[in-house]
Amino acid sequence: MATGNFQDSFLHTAVFSSAFLEPVYPEPAEPPEDAKWVIVRKNGVYLHSGEPPVLVYTHKENLPDVLHSQYLGHREGVAWYAMEVAADTVIPGSVFYPDTRDLYSLLPDNELAVAALAVRIIAFDRTTRFCGQCGSEMRQSGEERAKVCAACGQVTYPRISPAIIVLIQKDDHILLARSPRFPPGFHSVIAGFVAPGETLEEAVQREVREEVGIEVTNIRYLGSEPWPFPDSLMIGFAADYAGGEIVIDNNEIVAAGWFDRAHLPDIPRKMSIARALIDWWLAEGRGDSGR
Ligand SMILES: [Zn+2]
Repeated sequence: MATGNFQDSFLHTAVFSSAFLEPVYPEPAEPPEDAKWVIVRKNGVYLHSGEPPVLVYTHKENLPDVLHSQYLGHREGVAWYAMEVAADTVIPGSVFYPDTRDLYSLLPDNELAVAALAVRIIAFDRTTRFCGQCGSEMRQSGEERAKVCAACGQVTYPRISPAIIVLIQKDDHILLARSPRFPPGFHSVIAGFVAPGETLEEAVQREVREEVGIEVTNIRYLGSEPWPFPDSLMIGFAADYAGGEIVIDNNEIVAAGWFDRAHLPDIPRKMSIARALIDWWLAEGRGDSGR
């Protein structure tokens, strides 16, 4: 629930929100004639050539060798599905299989989110064919996005991995850090996965302590973003510096420091929640807002 102007000031559109496509349960017993299909192969999708390229396919009967399929959701009364084809499947018509990174520039945001959802749900189907508890075959629930074991009743849901991401403020500076995976000069905010048994606030404090050795306080939720590589949910916070000197571990983090508005290093590109946190600070988070 929004807590007044503070969260309202955080303007971020989660590119991978699939709210565009709403699952309706129970799902259709059979895919309707007018269903739209997303064709998945491994961790990518096929697109149909054109200006612009098109994500969906409407003639499933033309396709040989469908390995398996999954219901994704409804939009304006039309059901959307994903199907996986084998690597050597020849798809009728003019199609291509772009590098997943290029999908950003090829598809509008709504369809980009559906493409990512299709890959995730197909992967969920592929990796839950058998029960993790008794090894029997799993079947589609049909009542929710889940698989049910026919033998022992175990229910398995798609995995979602929560991760915190936090903008730390100290006077008119923010803390930015470099991971060894980043390009030279590039810095971002602190992020990390939530551990079992941990609150989000505890995860923020632990990650900050582990990665840069300082303490934070006044932890405030700003917004979130599903990040499908492969299954993260990024949960964004602002926090204030509370004490300690920056000590980096030289493993996860190889450099860290306090930066003011006039001296920012290279930062994440637009569309990421990391950048949205920094932009929020640049635009709205000045001074003592939120206290
Ligand atoms: Zn079982």
